[in-house]
Amino acid sequence: MTFEVPELGYDFNALEPNVDAKTMEIHHNKHHAAYVAKLNAAVEGTELADMEVNDILKDLDKIPENIRQAVINHGGGHSNHSLFWQVLKKDGGKPSQELLEAMKEAFDTPENCHIKFVEEAGKVFGSGWCWLVVNKDKKLEIVTTKNQDSPISSGLTPIFCIDVWEHAYYLNYQNKRPEYLEQITKVINWDKVNKLYQEAI
Ligand code: MN
Repeated sequence: MTFEVPELGYDFNALEPNVDAKTMEIHHNKHHAAYVAKLNAAVEGTELADMEVNDILKDLDKIPENIRQAVINHGGGHSNHSLFWQVLKKDGGKPSQELLEAMKEAFDTPENCHIKFVEEAGKVFGSGWCWLVVNKDKKLEIVTTKNQDSPISSGLTPIFCIDVWEHAYYLNYQNKRPEYLEQITKVINWDKVNKLYQEAI
């Protein structure tokens, strides 16, 4: 088996104007594809080639040392983007009652959850990701990761993420990451996030 770039599931322009079509096209067809190609090259001939990428990322110690960093980078890149495409949608529904309750418990209000998420995403220095995860105690948490590191490797279950690498927004937003964050968090696929939350608890 070789890893493959998943279908985007919608047109490149589906998230306009919040995320422009050109950014989506390059991001999916070039950036994500490059992570997949490099992941395939790294795992070729090893037993990892027959595993699910998220299972590989759950236990980094089991990855042969000579390919470990390559798998963290490119396997993470593949896993992270695969989730990212799915949690974005125009008119993507609303947070479920259960998820709203969990947000209140963790962040006092759902609005605070949004504020804190955008704040944390804005603070990522260099390249990385911001995540809404379910932790081992089944509580919601906002975490950030560097480069293409996955929260799965820390035992966390991601239910939403935003890519804050410059390639995710620079064409349209240039240096204005806060504006990108405000706009992209208006096109959340809550139906998908709700489902991931239910599966995680
Ligand atoms: Mn990216």
